[in-house]
Amino acid sequence: PAVNTAAADEAARVKAADRAHVFHSWSAQELIDPLAVAGAEGAYFWDHEGNRYLDFSSALVYTNIGYQHPRVVAAIQEQAGRLCTLAPGFAVDVRSEAARLIAERTPGDLDKVFFTNGGAEAVENAVRMARLHTGRPKVLSAYRSYHGATSTAINLTGDARRFGNDSATAGVVHFWGPFAYRSPFYSATPAEECERALRHLEDTVVFEGPASIAAIVLETVGGAPGVLVHPDGYLAGVRELCDRYGIVFVLDEVMVGFGRTGRWFAAEHWGVTPDLLCFAKGVTSGYVPLGGVAVSAAVAGTFARRPYPGGLTYSGHVLACAAAVATIGVMEEEGVVEQSARTGAELLGPGLRALAERHPSVGEVRGLGTFWALELVRDRATREPLVPYNASGADNAPMAEFAAACRKAGLWPLTAGNRIHIAPPCTIAPQEVAAGLEALDAALAVADAHTAG
Ligand code: PLP
Repeated sequence: PAVNTAAADEAARVKAADRAHVFHSWSAQELIDPLAVAGAEGAYFWDHEGNRYLDFSSALVYTNIGYQHPRVVAAIQEQAGRLCTLAPGFAVDVRSEAARLIAERTPGDLDKVFFTNGGAEAVENAVRMARLHTGRPKVLSAYRSYHGATSTAINLTGDARRFGNDSATAGVVHFWGPFAYRSPFYSATPAEECERALRHLEDTVVFEGPASIAAIVLETVGGAPGVLVHPDGYLAGVRELCDRYGIVFVLDEVMVGFGRTGRWFAAEHWGVTPDLLCFAKGVTSGYVPLGGVAVSAAVAGTFARRPYPGGLTYSGHVLACAAAVATIGVMEEEGVVEQSARTGAELLGPGLRALAERHPSVGEVRGLGTFWALELVRDRATREPLVPYNASGADNAPMAEFAAACRKAGLWPLTAGNRIHIAPPCTIAPQEVAAGLEALDAALAVADAHTAG
């Protein structure tokens, strides 16, 4: 029919224009075939031919209130009409309001907000603040971690060590965090894993020289490395270690802040307050780029009468701040954080565990709120991953087939290595969760076909 031909032509035109001039991040330019997207709303986006996809990736795990929330769209439009931009050095209502709303929701005495344009820049500044505050050079981070793609952030990122990253930053030291399912410490239980991981971290601190360590940087829940939920006691143990050695404790909540795990910030699950907390993504649901560092009174005090050497042209952009104020307002009024917690406890958790019972390819289910992962294996007994950790090309075929089966069933998945990450908008409706689980159920049959049994 004529309508479909026109839609196909439009999709082809958009793709050709993309191919002509857009240089895509994290991609071999000639080996990718991006979907041409025509629009999005709530938990769905669609292509030009009208195929709708339920977005279980929340874009890059950031559309916490879904796409095109009318209140946030209106707030951005209103701010654009009033004042589109203003240099960072001025005081202005919308920026002060965004900072207040954030400071009131972060744990403990994290009462000052340093705004950035995204997550990596938040991590860069947290590290700089920690180094200047302590006068020490080294920073410790976990092997299984992702902290961003700028210079210091990518060096902290343990995962990037395999990508052939070459922008070496002096003073970054990696350690093993706890991961009970694939324990680096050969632990038998989560409690043992916690104890051994803390001992290993302290050994690392002692051997590196505590007086040389500015900061320990950790994702509160490991995001990109596979929704790694730390065992109870681990974060409190790291907090205690940092206090004992005068080290700044930085929690990276770029992916897990603003409702993702069913709390405003994931640190609340364990009652831990870091010295610096990095955020981005969910603060505006990504409608306008914004990130930042929530800063403790002690670290802020270092820069009370001494200038902080950092900040970019667009720091604390007023359009982004307007988006943050509106997003936080929506989250508060619509009970989005509570909804995320409830969806995890009542729908996603039980639903995913039920899938694990039916599908031999599911080795482990883990997560909180609207933030889960299924770890896919060839063999449940040996835990051999469905594809190698850094698989690409033919090696990755089983996961590529699985992802294609998800898309065929109308579900847009986020896969990484042998895992599927399940991160729909925190506002996802129960019937949408059910539809997503049904699509996963169908697609897992494809993964099952690659298992040993
Ligand atoms: N930190 C964490 C935990 C992240 O998940 C990410 C991005 O996914 C970043 C930092 C980097 O954020 P951005 O891509 O906004 O620079």
